[in-house]
Amino acid sequence: MPRDAGGAEALLQEIFGFDAFRPGQGEIVEAVAAGENVLAIMPTGGGKSLCFQLPALLRDGVTVVISPLIALMRDQVRGLREAGVAAGALTSGNTPEETDAVWDMLHSGELKLLYLAPERLANGGTQRMLAQAGISLIAVDEAHCVSQWGHDFRPDYLRIGELRRALNVPLAAFTATADVETRGEMVTRLFDGQPPTTFLRGFDRPNIHLAFQPKDGPRAQILKFAGARKGQSGIVYCGTRAKTEGIARALREEGHAACHYHGGMEADDRRQVEERFATEDGLIVVATVAFGMGVDKPDIRWVAHADLPKSIEAYYQEIGRAGRDGAPAETLTLFGPEDIRLRRSQIDEGLAPPERRAADHGRLNALLGLAEALGCRRKALLAYFGEEAEACGNCDLCDSPPELFDGTEAVRKALSAALRTDESFGAGHLIDILLGKETDKIKQRGHDGLPTFGVGKDLSRGQWQAVFRQMMGHDLMRPDAERHGALVMTDRALPILRGEEAIQLRKDAVARATERRPAVK
Ligand code: ADP
Ligand code: ZN
Repeated sequence: MPRDAGGAEALLQEIFGFDAFRPGQGEIVEAVAAGENVLAIMPTGGGKSLCFQLPALLRDGVTVVISPLIALMRDQVRGLREAGVAAGALTSGNTPEETDAVWDMLHSGELKLLYLAPERLANGGTQRMLAQAGISLIAVDEAHCVSQWGHDFRPDYLRIGELRRALNVPLAAFTATADVETRGEMVTRLFDGQPPTTFLRGFDRPNIHLAFQPKDGPRAQILKFAGARKGQSGIVYCGTRAKTEGIARALREEGHAACHYHGGMEADDRRQVEERFATEDGLIVVATVAFGMGVDKPDIRWVAHADLPKSIEAYYQEIGRAGRDGAPAETLTLFGPEDIRLRRSQIDEGLAPPERRAADHGRLNALLGLAEALGCRRKALLAYFGEEAEACGNCDLCDSPPELFDGTEAVRKALSAALRTDESFGAGHLIDILLGKETDKIKQRGHDGLPTFGVGKDLSRGQWQAVFRQMMGHDLMRPDAERHGALVMTDRALPILRGEEAIQLRKDAVARATERRPAVK
């Protein structure tokens, strides 16, 4: 019989040496130990392995753990054995002796946890042996590997559902990937579409301060942010390789220790940067997203984005590299209309099938919504992942709540300018129309005869730019990549155009745009 919850707490201390559960662990352990089918979504480092290791000890019989990461499996087996738990692994790295020893322990009923590489499932012999071995639970780590759309797809993961049916035991799946499509695929492929008890916990990283700024001279903004944090380890993420080199140089000129990192560098040079970053204090790495996979430095004090990340998930993962030690850490993400255009065209020009592209636009929209958030940013971020939260007191919008104004009228004027010109122009030309400028382009096309011509003189050019940016942030308009960024209205704009809905815009973004000095050529 499973032991009671008190047993779980005792084992937590005796075997694992922890004083208390981390957020979410207790409830997940309880559900898994009780034999429920479970899908648990927790961020990397959140403590997922305990959520199947502990129930494995609470349950009779053997728990099979499937993971794609051999080194990690071996590590866990070693740790468990040191704590006196009978654990073993069947992976490609085994010597024949090791494999024999594991099978012996399994047959004698000693073994509690059996770690299995997914490719083993292709072997009918393994499946038959497991059927006779008294398996009482299947735990699947990195469960998103079952998703064919993801980067980590493992064809052998598709056999896990079959194994669950054959053994007829509960299954507990774990992942850090929170997006709804992947969640849906995991439910279909691992649980035959029967929704498991789902937990989404621990995504909040309260020590990380969140902030966004409209892009307004990105190099100067990054230098200012880094300058206020001199001597601290940080990462600057850039959208292009060339930019990493430029910003790293600018930082060095300001007296920072800084180097660049991107996928186009020699492997040796990359390794050298990784090593310096891990061992040196106060180094800044200016990098593309290629930097980060193996970064496991606990005391990264800040992360800045010189360009908008590609999705809300990417944003979360990248800022999440800061403050792993739990001490305060700061982030700054810059965004501008160019970023939005670039990200949209990357999605449209990608090879993904249409429904996947729509999902990618959705993930980008979620990030833009966060950028243009009207209330606490953390609350908006966690809401995206499905976690509820109160206003955090540790983000730029909690620090100074934005002033809002009713932007309905301005948005309707802007939409009208686009529609009356067949949605064929970018923001610059539309603003000229709204401001009543008699440019050559306007005269040639007769746009000075439009009813919208000159109806926007109450706002300045900078204010209109901010209005357009916020409209894109709210996904009311999208630049059409195939027509040089001509702005096209989305369905979301319809209720505003028809006068059925009002829209609030941020005053500060509009006001700031007017203060902007003309760009120096
Ligand atoms: P994940 O698989 O979610 O990335 P791990 O299971 O590897 O995370 O756990 C991350 C780290 O947190 C490990 O070093 C682990 O020992 C530690 N940890 C897990 N649970 C607890 C806990 N309740 N108290 C303290 N440390 C914990
Ligand atoms: Zn907040």
